[in-house]
Amino acid sequence: MIYDFIVVGHGLAGAILAETLRSSGNNVLVIDEPKENSASRVAAGLLNPVAGKRFAKSWMADVLIPAADTFYDSLEARYYKQLYFHMPIYKIFSSIEEQNTWMAKSEGGNWSEYISATYTQSINQPGVDDPFGGIMIKRGGFLHVFAMLDLLTEDLLKQNLLLPERFDITQLQLTEEGVKYKSIEARHLVFCEGYQVIHNPYFKWLPLQPTKGEVLEVQAEQNLSPQCIYNKAVYVVPEGEGRFIIGATYDWRNPDEETTPQGAEELSERFRQIFPQEFKVTGHWAGIRPAVRDRRPLIGTHPMYKQLSVFNGMGSKGVLMAPYLSAHFANALAGKGELMPEIHISRYFSLYYDYIKHQNLEP
Ligand SMILES: Cc1cc2nc3c(=O)[nH]c(=O)nc-3n(C[C@H](O)[C@H](O)[C@H](O)COP(=O)(O)OP(=O)(O)OC[C@H]3O[C@@H](n4cnc5c(N)ncnc54)[C@H](O)[C@@H]3O)c2cc1C
Repeated sequence: MIYDFIVVGHGLAGAILAETLRSSGNNVLVIDEPKENSASRVAAGLLNPVAGKRFAKSWMADVLIPAADTFYDSLEARYYKQLYFHMPIYKIFSSIEEQNTWMAKSEGGNWSEYISATYTQSINQPGVDDPFGGIMIKRGGFLHVFAMLDLLTEDLLKQNLLLPERFDITQLQLTEEGVKYKSIEARHLVFCEGYQVIHNPYFKWLPLQPTKGEVLEVQAEQNLSPQCIYNKAVYVVPEGEGRFIIGATYDWRNPDEETTPQGAEELSERFRQIFPQEFKVTGHWAGIRPAVRDRRPLIGTHPMYKQLSVFNGMGSKGVLMAPYLSAHFANALAGKGELMPEIHISRYFSLYYDYIKHQNLEP
């Protein structure tokens, strides 16, 4: 049998792409080396339509959010399990200056789609320190990414559509019809390796910037069960009964996968600034995000090898971006449309030509 696609990597990107390709009738084989601390498995899973200190609406939020809602809702319906938690995000102003920045930004703009309320003083939630108030962001939430991956993995394994092993690139042959990997043939192969694409000889020229992140799980002394996510420098995601996930740190200089005391201290301190009370650290993880300097994904087909593509570069927004971009890419692969130029790897093809020139390689 010849598969339509081999997908290498079953993190958030590969899993959602494989699911999307399968739902449009393709035969897909996934090859994934299981990794407990992949970016997807340690991610807090947040989806936030209004992010950053400058209160910018997330890129393409108007189309990415409905696609994400539909995709995660459909998985929940299939597996009878809640995976995506729609929840308001209370962005707490850290100072009167920040409050003023928002007031100026919001003036004249239409934010009703994403902001349900602005508070100029504390909203008096139990245990929360918010003297300057904040804004309540709607249409956000968080995904239990690890739970979604477990369900999709189990399903694929049952159908013999997932090989849980490392893809050995030295065994890949490019053929007239597509690709051959060991004895497996497919018309096309898509690499979804997250930050590990930096070791892929076909795509290592892409300007991926591995960015380490750490997250902490804490148990607060007070048995709090707030119904919103908090954001002040970090995100604090309520998991119920006083348990919170705090994320995340950003570190470009040390892209290793080790947790650090500095990471734990930074996250603990940020948590204290929102919830000034005693708590116990109950979990600590580190992973590496596949970030890109221009903050746009890296998607598309290799400039020379038309049977190879990449679906990567989701940075810190995989939960928001992967569903829409998977459908968009699947359409392009089926010849039904063009990829948007701002996500297409063609914006970096000059790096590929420089790379092969320096390596004295054939294109
Ligand atoms: C601490 C932290 C917090 C985050 N929080 C959020 C958040 O709140 N919201 C959000 O949207 N995003 C968040 N992110 C970012 C998010 O995790 C990423 O955007 C997303 O998970 C990237 O998914 P991916 O599938 O591209 O990569 P990965 O998750 O790294 O998955 C790649 C997969 O490919 C496999 N693989 C790689 N090479 C091979 C090979 N040769 N053979 C076989 N398998 C291979 C790996 O084992 C892995 O399973 C966070 C990231 C971190 C690190």
